Amino acid sequence: ATPTALMVGTGLSAKMGILIKNGEVLEAANDLQTVVFDKTGTITVGKPVVTDIIGDPQDVLSMAASLEESSEHPLASAIMVRASENKIIPPKITEFRAIEGKGVEAMFDGKRVFVGNDKLLGDYQIGAEMAVKVQQLQDEAKTVVFVGRGDEVVGLMAIQDEPKATSKAAISALKARGLKTIMLTGDNERVAQSIANQVGIDEVVADVLPGDKAAHIRELQKTSKVAFVGDGINDAPALTTADVGISMGSGTDIAIESGGIILVKNDLRDVNRALILSHKIVNRIK
Ligand code: ADP
Ligand code: MG
Repeated sequence: ATPTALMVGTGLSAKMGILIKNGEVLEAANDLQTVVFDKTGTITVGKPVVTDIIGDPQDVLSMAASLEESSEHPLASAIMVRASENKIIPPKITEFRAIEGKGVEAMFDGKRVFVGNDKLLGDYQIGAEMAVKVQQLQDEAKTVVFVGRGDEVVGLMAIQDEPKATSKAAISALKARGLKTIMLTGDNERVAQSIANQVGIDEVVADVLPGDKAAHIRELQKTSKVAFVGDGINDAPALTTADVGISMGSGTDIAIESGGIILVKNDLRDVNRALILSHKIVNRIK
């Protein structure tokens, strides 16, 4: 029979907006050394905004919007919002395709066009001056995406997504319990490090392709018990691989299904609250 403590405990947790799927999750949550976080939508608000445009803004935006129209990436919606503010009517492109962890590309006017990170730049040359500017923007925690057409770089956009107001407190509470905190993200190293510094995360693993997140969790599991906190479609495999998968209630359906603990209020401080609760409940069951 299910111990009363388990029923009462998980019931109380649920009232606080912390859904614990079963007793196994509780046991695992009580025995962790490492907590790994996704960045976008987990540590950050997940509502990116275009803050800077380098190049002719109308040209950069109309080329970018023609591609991002067809993309579901959070960065795409930031670009579409800015394009509509600038009254852009995006030209039609063909052969659209998304390139995982890099960006989007298509054909326009007989030329290849793309929006994405430096991995998509390939043989394109950006001048030394622009390279310095890019690093400055990234150090301000802004994600830089380049817009290319044929053999020219039309320009670039910097896109900012701020940490949630509670992220810093959430991380420091976990560190105070002796847990190691790690950020696992597909974004650029500088951007990731800058966000990590703002919220006090111990370690950063950046430039991770969506398909590789789970493998990183398995690597960490060789030396410790690991929780993974995430919200996106690409977080689902890491959520199921981790000893404890913790999903944001605001996350995609697949992320919510994959988590053993669901934080209904999307408050990152609830990670620590969930651990405190599991400790209490497990000690009563025993
Ligand atoms: P994350 O969700 O952790 O940022 P992704 O793998 O989704 O990781 O994306 C990694 C990087 O690829 C982004 O930071 C961005 O530079 C680039 N990228 C992906 N999709 C797009 C897109 N639709 N438009 C522009 N850049 C993109
Ligand atoms: Mg995310």
